[in-house]
Amino acid sequence: MPQTNQALDDRALLDRAREAAESAYVPYSRFPVGAALHLRSGVIVTGCNVENASYGLTICAERTAVTRMVAQSTDPGERQIVRVAIIGLKASPCYPCGACRQVLHEFGCQQVIVEESGEPRAHRFSELLPFGFGPSDLA
Ligand SMILES: [Zn+2]
Repeated sequence: MPQTNQALDDRALLDRAREAAESAYVPYSRFPVGAALHLRSGVIVTGCNVENASYGLTICAERTAVTRMVAQSTDPGERQIVRVAIIGLKASPCYPCGACRQVLHEFGCQQVIVEESGEPRAHRFSELLPFGFGPSDLA
C-alpha cells in the first residue's frame, strides 16, 4: 500500500528507496536498485529493478515505481512526481539512466535525490535532463 507523508525528508525518502532495493530481482547483474517517488498528493510509491534472462527486458527501479504509480490511481494528483530518491546498494551515488530520466520527466519530476558519502544530495531535475522533451512539447 502507498504511504502518505507530506513532510518526508530526503533521508527518509532515501530509506524508502533502500527498502525497495532489498526486493530487487537481479540474478544477473547483482546490482540492486530502489526508487521512491514522492507524489504531489503526498503518497510515496516505491520500485526496484527487475531483470530478465532476455537482458533487454530488464526494467529499472525508477520505471517500476512509475508503472506502479500509474496502475494504482487515475487521480491526476497521484500521477505528479515531486521528487524521486534513488539508491543503488552497490553504487553511491546512483543516478537514473537516460530512459528513466525521460519517463520521470513525463510525470513532472522536479528533483532527484541520491546518496553520496552517506548523505542525501538533491539535484534539480533540469540538471539531469536539460532541454527535456515532454508532454508540453506536444500541446
Ligand atoms: Zn533506468
